[in-house]
Amino acid sequence: MTARQWERLCAICHAAAVGLYTDGWRCADHTPAAIAGRPETVPDPALTLAGIRAARGVRYSPPPTETVVDRAAIASGKRRSNIRAYRDAQRST
Ligand SMILES: [Zn+2]
Repeated sequence: MTARQWERLCAICHAAAVGLYTDGWRCADHTPAAIAGRPETVPDPALTLAGIRAARGVRYSPPPTETVVDRAAIASGKRRSNIRAYRDAQRST
């Protein structure tokens, strides 16, 4: 059986993988820790990105997809867009 790239299968046994490691996707039985006979490491929740954000009171906000500069460029015709976006930008700026 050949594992295709978009399938997340264990590189050793082709079972459903649980994580991506430096040597490829691995199932729970073939993680580097399992092969070495050690327990899986569990990250300290306070040191994860979500934990740090929660401790500092920072909420995740996705980056804006459009700026005022973009709307001005669309309205002036300097930036390509469809005709509807062009007319909307002209009306709003
Ligand atoms: Zn496996």
